Amino acid sequence: MNTLSHTLPSVDAVRIALAERSYDILIGGGLLDRACSWTGLPRAATALIVSNTTVAPLYLARVKAQLQLHYKQVLQLELDDGEAYKDWASLNRIADTLLAAAADRKTVLFALGGGVVGDMTGFAAAIYMRGVPFVQIPTTLLSQVDSSVGGKTAINHPLGKNMLGAFYQPERVIADLDTLDTLPARELSAGLAEVIKYGPIADASFLDWLEANLPALLARDKQALAYAVRRSCEIKAAVVGQDEREQGLRAILNFGHTFGHAIETGLGYGEWLHGEAVGCGMVLASDLSVRLGLMPGSFLTRMTRLIQAAGLPVKAPDLGTSRYLELMRMDKKSEAGEIRFVVIEALGRAGMRSASDELVNEVLQAHLA
Ligand code: NAD
Ligand code: MG
Repeated sequence: MNTLSHTLPSVDAVRIALAERSYDILIGGGLLDRACSWTGLPRAATALIVSNTTVAPLYLARVKAQLQLHYKQVLQLELDDGEAYKDWASLNRIADTLLAAAADRKTVLFALGGGVVGDMTGFAAAIYMRGVPFVQIPTTLLSQVDSSVGGKTAINHPLGKNMLGAFYQPERVIADLDTLDTLPARELSAGLAEVIKYGPIADASFLDWLEANLPALLARDKQALAYAVRRSCEIKAAVVGQDEREQGLRAILNFGHTFGHAIETGLGYGEWLHGEAVGCGMVLASDLSVRLGLMPGSFLTRMTRLIQAAGLPVKAPDLGTSRYLELMRMDKKSEAGEIRFVVIEALGRAGMRSASDELVNEVLQAHLA
């Protein structure tokens, strides 16, 4: 009998099928210290671990110990922590580190952290010497279920979020569920918003499962987290696999995001976490789906209850309804001033609709704090 299988928790793998750019997302406990996480990656003389000042003290030494078994030179860089540092200056620090160490075109970059570190390191990998391999090691729930899947990389510009970037796929994603133990509760809830999103847009039974298992997820039960992360990655992978470059279908992943972005921009970035704004945005988008006659009123009740139980806000900040409309007209999905919303057409199926200002006003009025 294989004793290893008794002492080690199981590892799930979700395959992201994008022809020659296909890769695996490994999901499980204890992955940082397991040899199987690190074998079979591209060979190179040099590896660079990019992390930040919060995550590096927690996990970098363990990753480094593993990588030293595979690479002669293992460099490390600790960026400042925060969305404000997802910028040119940090990107330059990655380039400086690589060039100062004479890192060649085979160098492998490892992104150890949340979505900020992942997006930035991915973009650095896309452009360093016209592209080097990179590996995502997401350490927030949001990055494990969302930002590390799908190949979008970017940095922010003072005039707009994620305005400079590239589509660039990693070699592998290593989602160690144990890293979530140190995540602040507020960040866990924010990640749950993106998990909850996948139910109504793609899988009605996942929504049932989430309602039953939310307490286990909030208690960071590893089995529950493993299923939630795997199912989320599978759904995102299926959507991205059909629409890698966001021509159409991929937009359904933005359920709750049109209202959510208005909240984030209206309050000023950093006031609410992205996931908090998306949680509240899903309440509004659920109500819109009801008012458009697509869903029964019970759907709104159900979504509101789940989002609230996840520790997320369900009342929208009172920016004034006209300010909301103005902000949403600036949304990327708007066409010729007409706001387009992701709505739920049936449990597990999403679509795009526009709605009259009157109807959107009614939705807002019903949910302003
Ligand atoms: P984040 O990277 O800022 O992480 C949140 C906070 O948690 C940070 O302070 C971080 O240092 C800390 N942290 C991370 N892991 C930790 C751990 N294990 N223990 C303790 N603290 C930890 O935020 P995020 O929510 O992970 O990601 C948000 C970013 O992701 C945004 O920049 C957003 O634009 C991007 N994003 C990208 C995509 C995509 O498709 N590429 C999708 C969604 C979001
Ligand atoms: Mg999002």
